Amino acid sequence: MTAELLSITLPTDGLAGCFIDGAWHTPAATLAVENPSRRDIITEVGRAGATEVDLAVAAARRALPAWRALPASERGALLAELARRLTENHEEVARLLAAETGNAIRTQSRGETAGAAGVLRYFGGVAVEQKGEVLPFGPDLFSYSTREPIGVVGSIIPWNSPLQLGCGKISMALATGNTLVLKPAEDAPLAILRLTELAADLFPPGVFNVVTGVGEEAGAALAAHPGVDKLSFTGSSEVGHAVARQAAERLAHTTLELGGKSPCIVFPDACTDDRVATTAQGIVNAMRFARQGQSCTAGSRLFVHRDVWDKVMAAVVESADAMIVGDALDERSDIGAIINAERYGEVRAYVAEAEAGGATLLTGAVPAAVDEIDAYQPVPTVITDVDNSWRISREEVFGPVMVAIPWEGEADVIAMANDTHYGLAAFVFSQDVDTVMRVSAALEAGWIWVNDGGGQIPGMSYGGIKQSGLGREYSIEGALDAYTSRKSVTMRLRR
Ligand code: NAD
Repeated sequence: MTAELLSITLPTDGLAGCFIDGAWHTPAATLAVENPSRRDIITEVGRAGATEVDLAVAAARRALPAWRALPASERGALLAELARRLTENHEEVARLLAAETGNAIRTQSRGETAGAAGVLRYFGGVAVEQKGEVLPFGPDLFSYSTREPIGVVGSIIPWNSPLQLGCGKISMALATGNTLVLKPAEDAPLAILRLTELAADLFPPGVFNVVTGVGEEAGAALAAHPGVDKLSFTGSSEVGHAVARQAAERLAHTTLELGGKSPCIVFPDACTDDRVATTAQGIVNAMRFARQGQSCTAGSRLFVHRDVWDKVMAAVVESADAMIVGDALDERSDIGAIINAERYGEVRAYVAEAEAGGATLLTGAVPAAVDEIDAYQPVPTVITDVDNSWRISREEVFGPVMVAIPWEGEADVIAMANDTHYGLAAFVFSQDVDTVMRVSAALEAGWIWVNDGGGQIPGMSYGGIKQSGLGREYSIEGALDAYTSRKSVTMRLRR
């Protein structure tokens, strides 16, 4: 199918796949980018390997002295200008994003594009907050500290919200005076490549480099590169461990934003007759059904108090069933498509295994086999009669599949919620402030949403505990901790 029929505008220069030292660079190999809503190839882009990664890291190293010396306000102004350019091209970029990710244009991709511009704008403004401290060392002594950029940053991002995550990585690295080599995910590089086109004449050559390629090639080369001083990785826990091992070899700084299996706890007082529909909608939002459940923060383990179980589950099923699954570029679609055949097959296998184990599907079904479908479109699925110890309750399905478990005692439900190796997000539904604060304090997670299942805003320090990650990003405080190191200077004053 042609780009015209898809009504998307492809990147032009960006199809080279690699932007190095201020110029486009075409590797010998290419990578096909598939539209998961239609199962056809949108286009091919350059496929970087170790050679391109070497060139990009060398360019970033050369650009570092001048970039870090630039006043923070000037670095911030360039990020703000990139936000302006992205906003100017909002619809074009959002359509590209929907086509490559399968994330529905109306419910997801437009919002992600606006959010990505928002994060660039935020860091454009707060770049000047790279402040140091003065230490009361004693009489005749003066001691101060500065926040120094770490150096060359290598950032690796996944496909599920590539533009938002990419703009976060660009913003944090460049605002703090580091230079960057960014590796987008092989499944969804196009919106990032279009953004790179918009940025091509903006930053000095070598400050912002992009290498598109597969994980085992470009990703592994970047993670292992001795010239990369800091790695910022967002993706699966499994690959995160491998990246952290590479970083440990040379003591490179590391930030890891990994997977999750977030609990969603519903108290009876959030389910009065006048409130139950709102709570159910919040649960559906938390589950990220509209993003096919392909969100690290998906509230995919639902714990509902037994007293309100029947009415809550009926309302959740009604809300989930009302969602329209369709082509990501169709304005009517609430839900688009799972990213690729492999992921679709994994989601299918999880649901099939649970059903075979005796679980009940309150709504949804085991998805059809990959060779029987024209699109990787899933159906929102709510599964009960499972235990918190089942594989489907413990592992990240990364599909629109929620397990629901009834509870009676607060201590029991908190124990179940925390009985996981993940600790990214949690959701609590209650109208009682004491309950909310008590439960929030007890939950082991980096981020807790109360009475809804929304997203995060720039300025909120975001990240997980346990196997969900290391470090915080998305705020100036997080960026200063993750992308700078403190230098202290102590002076004896003239006596
Ligand atoms: P993934 O780990 O398979 O891939 C992520 C990135 O790592 C891709 O760019 C990939 O090419 C690269 N990669 C793969 N193998 C590599 C290797 N050996 N060395 C270096 N790089 C390698 O993850 P995914 O399937 O793209 O994304 C889904 C995962 O990301 C889920 O687990 C989700 O929870 C997580 N995620 C986390 C956050 C967060 O903020 N915590 C946000 C979004 C997604």
